[in-house]
Amino acid sequence: MKKIVVLLLTMILSLVLCSCACIQHDWISATCTSPQKCRKCGKTEGVAMGHHWNAANCVNPQKCSRCGITKGNPSGVHSTKYGKCNYCGKFIKELSSEWSTLIEVKNNTAQAIMRAGQAINIAGNLSRAIDEINLFYSELERAYSVFNSNPNDFISMRKSFDTLLASYREFVKSYNAATSKSQRETCVLAMCQTYTNWGWDSFNVALKDYTQN
Ligand SMILES: [Zn+2]
Ligand SMILES: [Zn+2]
Ligand SMILES: [Zn+2]
Repeated sequence: MKKIVVLLLTMILSLVLCSCACIQHDWISATCTSPQKCRKCGKTEGVAMGHHWNAANCVNPQKCSRCGITKGNPSGVHSTKYGKCNYCGKFIKELSSEWSTLIEVKNNTAQAIMRAGQAINIAGNLSRAIDEINLFYSELERAYSVFNSNPNDFISMRKSFDTLLASYREFVKSYNAATSKSQRETCVLAMCQTYTNWGWDSFNVALKDYTQN
């Protein structure tokens, strides 16, 4: 009889204990400052995530992208050294005439090459395509006028342009050697493809260096 009472008491006690603990935790995700935590029993697991700081700029202090808490003061750093600041809208400074020219060269060559390809693929008009390639070449010359008057700048960009110019010269050679319209069209389309593959990597890197903080 005594044994049974003890057993019953033990059972009751363990039931009471069980109802206090969680059978299944109800986790609240970890935050910047708190580890994952059970909503029911308060047990924590793991560590807090820590803040994820975005850099300060001319308008905002350092700010956590997760919880939005801020730290310190605005840094006064604009998004750019030239043109208009993306954060505060202030106009900082005009681009140099060299860079303005090179940006035009980028846009104009890309458009000329696109139209050259269309002239052949859509309109079947080789002579119009050649007009566009000539326009493309005159834009290359404008880039070289910038390089030649600034021999100490744009050095890696110039090297990259040299490969494009060499491909253009190859194109002229093969175009002149072509004996049929379709061969000439193939030459133009190959030049368009070469330009596309060439890309503007060195230009983009240099422009970023020049304009960004
Ligand atoms: Zn729990
Ligand atoms: Zn945070
Ligand atoms: Zn600004």
